[in-house]
Amino acid sequence: MRRREFIKICGLLGISFPFQASRSKNDTLQSPASDTVLIIGSGAAGMSAGYMLEQKGINYKILEASDTYGGRMKRTTTFVDFPIPLGAEWLHVSKQELANIVNNASTAITTRLKGYSGREDVGYYENGHITYAPLSEAFGDGFYDKKFINSTWFDFFDEYIVPRIRENIQLNTQIVSINYQGNPVLVTDTRGSTYEAARVIISVPLKVLQNNSIKFVPALPKEKLAAIQNAPIWGGLKVFIELTKKFYPTYLTFPDSETNAGQRAYFDAAYAQHTSSNVLGLFAVGKQAEPYQSLSKGDQLAYILNELDQVFDGEASRSYKKHIVQNWDSEPFIQSAYLADIAPSSISNDLFTPVGNKLYFAGDSYTYEDDWGGVHNATRSAKRAVEEIIQGIGMQSKISAIEQ
Ligand SMILES: Cc1cc2nc3c(=O)[nH]c(=O)nc-3n(C[C@H](O)[C@H](O)[C@H](O)COP(=O)(O)OP(=O)(O)OC[C@H]3O[C@@H](n4cnc5c(N)ncnc54)[C@H](O)[C@@H]3O)c2cc1C
Repeated sequence: MRRREFIKICGLLGISFPFQASRSKNDTLQSPASDTVLIIGSGAAGMSAGYMLEQKGINYKILEASDTYGGRMKRTTTFVDFPIPLGAEWLHVSKQELANIVNNASTAITTRLKGYSGREDVGYYENGHITYAPLSEAFGDGFYDKKFINSTWFDFFDEYIVPRIRENIQLNTQIVSINYQGNPVLVTDTRGSTYEAARVIISVPLKVLQNNSIKFVPALPKEKLAAIQNAPIWGGLKVFIELTKKFYPTYLTFPDSETNAGQRAYFDAAYAQHTSSNVLGLFAVGKQAEPYQSLSKGDQLAYILNELDQVFDGEASRSYKKHIVQNWDSEPFIQSAYLADIAPSSISNDLFTPVGNKLYFAGDSYTYEDDWGGVHNATRSAKRAVEEIIQGIGMQSKISAIEQ
């Protein structure tokens, strides 16, 4: 859920050719790097950057640590009869954003979305009592969230973006060092393979940089390091519970649904889906996620059912079928949820700022705007990074300038 909208909830109470310059220490590099962009990470930002570079005919390669692409757009199709988005779920802005990402007028986008009418019920639970209000009253008129109908953010990318870039995504390639001292830039993975490029777009989650999982040579500039290290980053999880009955409102909120420390809410995950399954979702980030994250699997379920039973007179336990938990802090290449809503916008500016015409940053934290933490932020940031690379071009002439 996006910061601005959660603030409203609070009001209730808120990117051609295959390139692999892999070498052992004594080998010579096999591919010219002067016209190649390497992208680290294959989430929404990395894939968008690759797709845009593909459209512009610029050589690129996406190096992804995990065994799949998508990052925080991960979804499962095996839980019930519609896909469950384990990270990004809603489109927070207008549907035009999908066309902006595809950026090709001749492509008909058939992805279906459904917003909220405003008449849906929102429950607010405090001091043992639940009160209900229509969503328009509870969240205000500016609530633009839209659900993908029997689809997800991941499926949208899988259909419209991935077919153009798939051959250029190299999975199971965790980057551990980036040496941008000379030309080309040298990028090294855990196996010791080295890749070279004129420019590198770094699109790993901010927490990965904060945890120094990638070594930069030379070290990043002071301002950039400060922005990375000072960034308040929220952890987070989502839980989905299948129930035999629907006894819950479209959203269920609490006094701590929106605070400076974090957010949480339960929501009807089957909203707008063609299904007969009842699935209740739990979204929690920051401080509000910690009580759930700190518990063992069994205790976690007991805690959640108990919490819901208090609100709904034991109905959650009686109706429980199964559940699934996605704890983003435990994902080795994600390590968190996203940049906290309370971060000052100067941080997202400093996080985006390229380094030495060689390192570019793209992703939901490196946005150069007063908004972050969503797929649309990640894709816009990727677009801006690619535009900055292209504006600086000819890449070749820039390289020559550097080499002089
Ligand atoms: C619980 C939760 C709910 C959310 N809900 C929404 C929502 O409803 N709507 C919305 O728009 N957004 C939502 N978001 C945010 C959204 O998921 C992110 O903003 C977006 O997916 C981030 O994309 P990204 O490309 O910046 O980063 P990521 O998707 O994190 O991609 C980064 C990639 O880098 C890879 N990587 C990491 N380290 C390395 C390395 N060393 N070498 C190579 N690869 C590496 C990772 O494996 C990953 O694939 C939610 C996020 C969470 C956690």
